[in-house]
Amino acid sequence: MKLGAIEAGGTKFVVAVGNENGEVLERASFPTTSPDETMKETIAFFKDKDVEAIGLGCFGPIDPDKNSPTYGYITTTPKPGWANYNIVGALEEAFPDTPIGFDTDVNGACLGEAYFGAAQGLDSALYLTIGTGIGGGAIVEGNLVHGLLHPEMGHMLMNVREDDPYKGKCPYHGTCFEGMAAGPAIAERWGKNGNELPADHPAWDLEAWYIAQALAIYVLTLSPKKIILGGGVMHQKQLFPQIHKYLQERLNGYIQKEEITSDKIKDYVVYPGLGDNAGICGALALAKVAKED
Ligand code: ZN
Repeated sequence: MKLGAIEAGGTKFVVAVGNENGEVLERASFPTTSPDETMKETIAFFKDKDVEAIGLGCFGPIDPDKNSPTYGYITTTPKPGWANYNIVGALEEAFPDTPIGFDTDVNGACLGEAYFGAAQGLDSALYLTIGTGIGGGAIVEGNLVHGLLHPEMGHMLMNVREDDPYKGKCPYHGTCFEGMAAGPAIAERWGKNGNELPADHPAWDLEAWYIAQALAIYVLTLSPKKIILGGGVMHQKQLFPQIHKYLQERLNGYIQKEEITSDKIKDYVVYPGLGDNAGICGALALAKVAKED
């Protein structure tokens, strides 16, 4: 089955042709500029590809509710030109006979990990991306979680660690998870981008502490069977053992499951099985679901 995939990000679009096994056969990417220009390039890529469905994992906020009059729109983004933009409509106009699957980039990545990656065979998983922003997607009882909108897991308030004087980067909440732990917060707090800081820099212990605090909340609310951490910040693999330790400390024995209380926790909170392909393979998974619907 030949499927199309679009990973629509705020800074770049990745487009690909792949198959139902999550294999990417051909890909291209280009910077996100105006909707007109960016969608023209996207549509040109798929024009002669003859795909059976297209999956779109999209930066947000978006309207994923099929019963809503603004289904398929990017809603309130500050990105010039993209607010209230009907991105699914643009694809449907160009490819009227092709089913389009649509969800947030992180819900897509979560589905991709469940189909092809670290959460294969599980009906419950959480995917978090920690990079220029923080977002999360979740599968609960086999379904991606939607509601009024979709989860915005990067914006819950954090307890600030005693030794951290930083006031937070989020313009809405200050010291929310994204405000304290996304790439721009690391850069502002330490005066250097994360990838310029050595692996033993104190930044990483603090980073792991905040990530574990957020994970404890997801464990208590969503009860995921697997937690997958992707995004640019998670290229710092030295974070994982510290996250495991701090998550156990946070939960303090309350969740009596071996996955958490023993050293099996290293298989519970993991790096994406698909690595940096989680997003584009997630879009393939969205296409697969759209084709089967
Ligand atoms: Zn926030």
